[in-house]
Amino acid sequence: MRRRGILAVVSGFSGAGKGTLMKNLLKQYGNYALSISMTTRLPREGEEDGREYFFVSKEIFEEKVERNGFIEYACYCDNYYGTPREYVEYQLDMGKDVLLEIEIQGALKVKEKFPEALLLFVMPPSAKELKNRLTGRGTETPDVVSKRLNRAILEAQGIENYDYIVINDDLEICTQELHSIINTAHKSVRRNEEFIENMRQELNVLVKGEK
Ligand code: ADP
Ligand code: 5GP
Repeated sequence: MRRRGILAVVSGFSGAGKGTLMKNLLKQYGNYALSISMTTRLPREGEEDGREYFFVSKEIFEEKVERNGFIEYACYCDNYYGTPREYVEYQLDMGKDVLLEIEIQGALKVKEKFPEALLLFVMPPSAKELKNRLTGRGTETPDVVSKRLNRAILEAQGIENYDYIVINDDLEICTQELHSIINTAHKSVRRNEEFIENMRQELNVLVKGEK
């Protein structure tokens, strides 16, 4: 019996370290598949089409919306971002734990459509450290940094919708914590109904056979 993968949604303020954590998880453990989103934002220096994102025009993005090609999409700081449907469904069927690194509006839509999804929120150790990381990354103008920090205030209001928070202070510890939460979720009674039912039947057969 192949266990079905877990759909793990990872959100967090811009600069909290989500991208870094995802790379670390993929590098250290074998059972993850990271969904690559489609976006209308421009690539940052060093980003490659098909690796960090599929970078597309607004027209192409809207066409895919029309064709129901996303499991969710949202507008974030003036750009569209969406999760392509096919890859996610295929990898879950293959038993992979699928990571969606998405913002909060998208996360809530995923929870509506996939109630069994696991929602994780990455926190920085402090607000000051968040600003340091966001500016230290050096990829956004001061204006965009300020927009993203303002957005963090809004996002902080929605954290109660998530299942767990992880604090990204030490990267290695945080990576292990994320992995351990996802692994523990595989053990939940809800996710093991088939195994439990088989055991009930086996017990019945065994006891009846011994009479
Ligand atoms: P996000 O994807 O959440 O926007 P990034 O992964 O791009 O964030 O990380 C933002 C910056 O913080 C990057 O420069 C990254 O190297 C740095 N960073 C990430 N995690 C840590 C950590 N645990 N300690 C210190 N710096 C970190
Ligand atoms: P960035 O521009 O920093 O790469 O991403 C901005 C925000 O968009 C981040 O919070 C990131 O998690 C989120 N994001 C990335 N891809 C998607 C997606 O497919 N859907 C949604 N809803 N948000 C996404």
